[in-house]
Amino acid sequence: MKKSTYSIFLDEERCTGCTNCIKRCPTEAIRVRDGKAKILADRCIDCGECIRICPNHAPIPQSDSREKTKQFKYTIALPDPALFGQFKTKPSPRQILAAVLALGFDGVYEVAWAADAVSIAIREFIREHRGEGPWLSSSCPAVIRLIQVRFPSLTEQILPILSPVEVAAKLAKEETSWQLDIPQQEIGCFYLTPCPAQVTAIRAPYHLEHSYVDGALAISDLYCELREKIAGAREQGEPVKATALGLTWGRVGGQTRAVQSDNYLAVDGIYNLLQVLEEIELGKFDNNIDFLECQCCQGGCVGGAFTVENPFVARVTLRRMAGQLRPKLEAEKEQKVLEYNRKGYYRAEKEVEPYSIMSLDKDIAKAIYMVEQSEKILKQLPGLDCGSCGCPTCRTLAEDIVCGIATETDCIFKLREQVQSLAEQMLALALKVPPVTLVQRQIMKTQREVLELAKRLPPVLAKRNQKSNQKKGGEEE
Ligand code: SF4
Ligand code: SF4
Repeated sequence: MKKSTYSIFLDEERCTGCTNCIKRCPTEAIRVRDGKAKILADRCIDCGECIRICPNHAPIPQSDSREKTKQFKYTIALPDPALFGQFKTKPSPRQILAAVLALGFDGVYEVAWAADAVSIAIREFIREHRGEGPWLSSSCPAVIRLIQVRFPSLTEQILPILSPVEVAAKLAKEETSWQLDIPQQEIGCFYLTPCPAQVTAIRAPYHLEHSYVDGALAISDLYCELREKIAGAREQGEPVKATALGLTWGRVGGQTRAVQSDNYLAVDGIYNLLQVLEEIELGKFDNNIDFLECQCCQGGCVGGAFTVENPFVARVTLRRMAGQLRPKLEAEKEQKVLEYNRKGYYRAEKEVEPYSIMSLDKDIAKAIYMVEQSEKILKQLPGLDCGSCGCPTCRTLAEDIVCGIATETDCIFKLREQVQSLAEQMLALALKVPPVTLVQRQIMKTQREVLELAKRLPPVLAKRNQKSNQKKGGEEE
């Protein structure tokens, strides 16, 4: 597997080390060290939870710069369906496409149209593999990474179908190259993305060796300019190709509607997903579900970190806008998609591989030894999971200690325990030194004060030690 990358970076200047984000991260990918949050690269899945929770806007999602478009002779914009839900003024879908073109691209290719085709491909796959489900949707890269790192046994259930944006870029390059006689490598496809997870998926694709997409531009970065262009845009250019079904892929429930599956679940929000995936892993669904639509963001892609509009408002806007399009593909176009599907046009080139972050070392014997050590350390920690050490739980601190990236005294209770013990030793030593001079008296006074302070520590450890001593005593009896 390719080295894991991510597209969220932390601005140290803004971070106050408040530890809010370490508790929220679903893959325990953040630590606070020396008062600043740090991301563990292999664990980050780009879900954007830290962006939503941080009061100081320290986590910053990254996308490509528009400068990158200059590397190509011919540029094509690929607007995500979620873009259509971003405008309160409710322009028509055709006006939005005209505004996207007016940003300076040579062409626009609708991801929603590719979603129409992908929906048919998924429907056919599920029909051919009925009873082998639940099949997990493969369009949200944050969900794919979550499954890789937390539910590796479920990677085999991920649909081996390309995401709509990859299909859009593949079709856009082939059609443009054929129509305008331009080599495909001179055509640049740029995704107008709702989230940083898609930026990472283009750099490190999970279903392809190389992405067909050449760059990803954040919807939020283009929003103001797009609003201006929409104000001046008249209905022009080609009519919208996508159907209402393709456009509603931008919101939760859109995929299941488009796939037309009877036995489905549509789940949005990372914590809801964790719960459902856990149940699937435990076999609780028992193949009753054919298709599970999984979207990391609340409300679906309209809730992505690069969107601007409130996701609830965007969902309604998108539904209304879909009402302006034809409800589904004409039979003749569907036949064409089915022909492409039979040739494997929409199929993934490679399977999604599991990616374990939970193992402490590649060497299994060493990893087992490290787990044993971390269990021993964990027993010495208070078990409060307070986060004061900069780790999300006492267990993660124990693992970090074994891995050499933290020390026991990062735990504030262990630190106080050590200070108390040190103060007691210092006092005992000072009392042994005759004759007592004025200076020594002063030192002893200070030491007594330190000891008094140390005694005011929370009694957690003392009680815990007392309990464990009592238990030991009982066992011996
Ligand atoms: S939430 Fe995380 S990134 Fe934001 S200020 Fe607190 S520690 Fe820093
Ligand atoms: S639900 Fe959509 S916007 Fe959110 S992470 Fe997944 S692909 Fe990105």
